[in-house]
Amino acid sequence: MSTSAPITQDVMTIPRKLPEGGKINLVGLTRDQMREVLISNGTKEKQAKMRVGQIWQWIYQWGVRDFHEMTNLSKAYRAELDEVFEIAIPEVITKQVSEDGTRKYLVRIAGGHEVEVVYIPEDDRGTLCISSQVGCTLTCSFCHTGTQKLVRNLTAAEIIGQLMMARDDLEEWPVPGAPKDETRLLSNIVLMGMGEPLYNFDNVRDAMKIAMDPEGISLSRRRITLSTSGVVPEIARTAEEIGCLLAISFHATTNETRDVLVPINKRWNIDELLQALADYPKVSNSERITFEYVMLDGVNDTDEDAHRLIDHIKRYNIPAKINLIPFNEWPGAPYKRSSNNRIRAFANIIYQAGYASPIRKTRGEDIMAACGQLKSATERARKSRKQIAEEAGLSQP
Ligand code: SAH
Ligand code: SF4
Repeated sequence: MSTSAPITQDVMTIPRKLPEGGKINLVGLTRDQMREVLISNGTKEKQAKMRVGQIWQWIYQWGVRDFHEMTNLSKAYRAELDEVFEIAIPEVITKQVSEDGTRKYLVRIAGGHEVEVVYIPEDDRGTLCISSQVGCTLTCSFCHTGTQKLVRNLTAAEIIGQLMMARDDLEEWPVPGAPKDETRLLSNIVLMGMGEPLYNFDNVRDAMKIAMDPEGISLSRRRITLSTSGVVPEIARTAEEIGCLLAISFHATTNETRDVLVPINKRWNIDELLQALADYPKVSNSERITFEYVMLDGVNDTDEDAHRLIDHIKRYNIPAKINLIPFNEWPGAPYKRSSNNRIRAFANIIYQAGYASPIRKTRGEDIMAACGQLKSATERARKSRKQIAEEAGLSQP
């Protein structure tokens, strides 16, 4: 097994033939897509399903990157695969380890872009915070990523590749024949890195399907949390097509304040958002929606805010947990973190109303890996918002 190989080819659609100067990456393809590319490159149709099953297991269960190691395939077939295909994931540029064990990776993806991936170890689990876009089209005023305009959506290969990269680094691919380890270092995924995952829906969905596939990485859908700023029309699709847990960047209790903090609120306001959350078909007591609420001194942190927040959630009868996030400062940030006493008082009001109100422990702050601090060190030339949105095929709020 080799470690991360450099990406030489960017699979956006299903390639039919060998692209000039590069091989076709099998990473990130759905089973159907993989079947199609195998067939269009010489695999017999009758055998294709079985071959997909075999190759899939090598890639996602055992972490193999070299076709020659796929010992249940004939030598000739392995050589044929190697000529046309590759198993490529993002390349790690730098890795920083925080005093608290948090690891921040800067990885390079096709086109020379960079995104950040953060691994957060805890006693009973380990969470990988994954990015879905380079930059973000949205401009939440407290978020560092929001100051970096969107460069592009990540492909499914680049999204699942972040997880494969982390498993390489943690040396967590199982060894054939060894018993299955139930206590994984990398047990949870949060889509809380750079970008708005619901503006890159198809690629995020395909990558998460791969993460959940029982013949591969096999993470339960309950161990994946997608965080959105509130792209209302895509919330129902998330339940139907991904089925993971949902977190909402709520952050304000009046439209007036939310319009400023989370400007997508001007497109879909608090009531429209709450209605979509109430309808999230998968909600049940065991699948509460997480309301993320960043604590900004003097902006959204009064007792009245806490009461209003509870009223909203009660009015729509949403099974909820409220995750209070102490604001993480970044250079030039226009806000300050609420005091610890204020955060505790706010948490207490919520708790008294019958909702869990954990205060998120800040992790990896010394290496700028905490929530909202992510931003590629090297930014590409800036384009106009309109041009960026057009190129990415995105509907701007
Ligand atoms: N775009 C998605 C996911 C990425 S942001 C979203 O907005 O939900 C992940 C979480 O970090 C969000 O709740 C976001 O609001 C929060 N966040 C952003 N900047 C922050 C900062 N400076 N301090 C604390 N949390 C922040
Ligand atoms: Fe984008 Fe989320 Fe940051 Fe808002 S909080 S700018 S949606 S990454």
